Order: sequence, then structure tokens, then C-alpha cells
Amino acid sequence: MRVHTHRHRGRDVGRKWVWLALTFLGLACATEGKSPWGATSPQTTAQQKQQAPSKSSNQKDLRSNGSPDANELSDDDEGDLAEGEYLVSPSVAHPLDDWSDAALREAFETRPESLGSISVGTPNSGRLINGVRPPASSLYHLVDPEHAWGTQETVDSLCRALEAVARQHHDTRVVDIGHLSARSGGPLRPHRSHQSGRDVDLGLYYSDRNSRWYTYADGDNLDVARTWTLLKALASSTDIEMVLLDINLQKRVETFALSTEHDTAWVHLLFHGEGAQPRLLRHSPGHATHLHLRFKNPIARRSAQRLAPLLATQRPLEHQNAPLSHVAKVGDTLAKLAQRYCTTMGAIRAANRMRGFQLKAGQSYIIPIDKFAVEKAGGCDKR
Ligand SMILES: [Zn+2]
Repeated sequence: MRVHTHRHRGRDVGRKWVWLALTFLGLACATEGKSPWGATSPQTTAQQKQQAPSKSSNQKDLRSNGSPDANELSDDDEGDLAEGEYLVSPSVAHPLDDWSDAALREAFETRPESLGSISVGTPNSGRLINGVRPPASSLYHLVDPEHAWGTQETVDSLCRALEAVARQHHDTRVVDIGHLSARSGGPLRPHRSHQSGRDVDLGLYYSDRNSRWYTYADGDNLDVARTWTLLKALASSTDIEMVLLDINLQKRVETFALSTEHDTAWVHLLFHGEGAQPRLLRHSPGHATHLHLRFKNPIARRSAQRLAPLLATQRPLEHQNAPLSHVAKVGDTLAKLAQRYCTTMGAIRAANRMRGFQLKAGQSYIIPIDKFAVEKAGGCDKR
């Protein structure tokens, strides 16, 4: 592994990186930034234009928790297009650059929280270290707080964009935030992605007051003004990588944006891309009920690269959520195993398709571990 020592932070470090470094320090919510989309916020001529409330309130697909539907499986149909593209060049400053390998190891082993958020692997096969949740706010509501963990960059970017909407539109209703990631990342049903702290399911802004989380938007009930302000803020002041939204809703928002923005070329770029620059907005089935945001997280991902030798000493990624097995000995009981492995008797029985409660000595049993479920139930310490 390369030894990084006291790399000079020159004045040539881009403004983007200054901002991202601030993000790392958790200071970014009130900080303006420059976008990977290369445009400052264009002028708006009619940002405050209010949408007439719609009588249409189609709630045929209302769900009650942060975990939407099987359509989420297609979250990643296009999600890997830009994979790796934004990984940071070694010539750009990173908060861990000045740390020696020895200091990193010591911190990783004794106070890992000091290393900031770390996004390991990919959204479809990854995990999250030192995740954070959006702080309590009057702007949004966490639909499923247990699965609302993201990197500091993701949370700050999301927060910044939602603040921009609230600033520009008075009386903006509380918006719902669905799943980000599990606390340590990894597989999160029903998604294929949402594994590495970079994905967010965000509720839509509706033009009628009755719509709730996961209400289907047919266009008439979408608040296009607020939606455009959100997209503009994401594109101009966060590290957004892509936004999944139903194509018919995209068209509504694009039409609105073209009618209000001076820089129509930039609007076109966001919705259609140009040359090597992919579009920000992408269609994916199932995204007429919420937006799926993916952030690039250059800091958290480069932290994972830098820490790769240390991460490799942990359980391999693909086994992070794999169950353990236990060969029963005479005297073992379900209750003892559940306590020892910090799981539940029911989970062990289910994993092994046990009908009764008796263990057979010599037989191997799968031990499913769901430490956060156990934590939530108030059980098990030290795990
Ligand atoms: Zn999603």
C-alpha cells in the first residue's frame, strides 16, 4: 500500500473539493457548491409560480413503509453506467491524505468513527461504515428510520436540496424520505441497490394536500415547480450521480423547466445528456411514486479505497450478511444459541425450517444474525 504523508494541498484544488471536504466535516448544509454537472444554478424567471391544486388524488399505490415495491428491483437497470467514473483521481486532495498508514490502522481499530463515512463496494454489492441519518427536521419525515442510513455526503446533499426547495417555495409540505441504506449497508429488501449509503428513495412533491408517501403521480398531482427546484438544487449543488423518475413525469418537469429557465441548454443536458455526459434524469419503471437519487460520494468511496487493506481483514464483503453455522453439542438449546449469537429462537427455527424446539447434537444449524433487529428489540450487547 502506498504511504500517504503530508500531501501538499495546493491552491489548485478545485472549489468542488473544498466543498466536498466541508461536506466531510459535516459543515456543508449551508454551503454552496459546484456541481459535477458543471453548471451554476441558472436564473429562474418564475420560480415562485404556484401550481394550481389538482382535484386528482390518485392513491392507488399507497404504501405504509419505506420499502416500496418489487419495481425497486429495477433501480439499477441503468445504475452502473457511471460506476467508477467519479472515483477521485489521486491528484485531488482527500481528507485521509495526510494520514499515515499506521495512523489509519490505529484509528480503524480503535476509533473508526473518526474516519468519517465509508462507502464500500457498489450500490448493488456494498456496505456502509459510519453511516449517518438525516437529522430531525421540520422539512422531511423518515418513513423507516431504521433504514435511513447514508454517508455524510449523501445526507448533506439531500438536506441541502430539500432546504433549497423550502427556501424557494413557501408552505412546502413535509416531504417523505424512504429508504437510504441499512445501518451497515448490505442487502436491503426489496431493493437490489441501496447497499452502500449512496441511494435515497425520496417522496414526490404533490400539488394536492392529500397525497401521502408512495402516492402514484399521474402528472396532474405532481408539483412540477417544487420538483424542478429540487432537481436543480441536486444538479447544481450536490454530488448527484443520477435520478430515477418515470418518463412521463420527467416530461412534465422538463416542460416546466424550459418555460422558466434562461439556460435551456443546461435543462436539456440534465434530461437528455450530451456527448459523453450522461443525462441526470433516467426512466425506470416503478418510479412514478417516488424519486430514486444516487449520489457519487467521492470522499466516502475513496476512503474505502484507501482503507481497502484494512477492510480486507474483516469478513469478506459477500459474507457480511451470510449466516453463521453452529454444530450443536449436548446441552445446547435454542435459547442458548439465540443468546450466544445475538439472534432469536424464531429466526434460528425459521432459518433451519425446524418444526419443534429440540436441537440434535452433532447437527449443523444455520445461525441467521440480524443484529439491528435485535438491537431494536433491546437485546444483546457488545455486538
Ligand atoms: Zn430506490
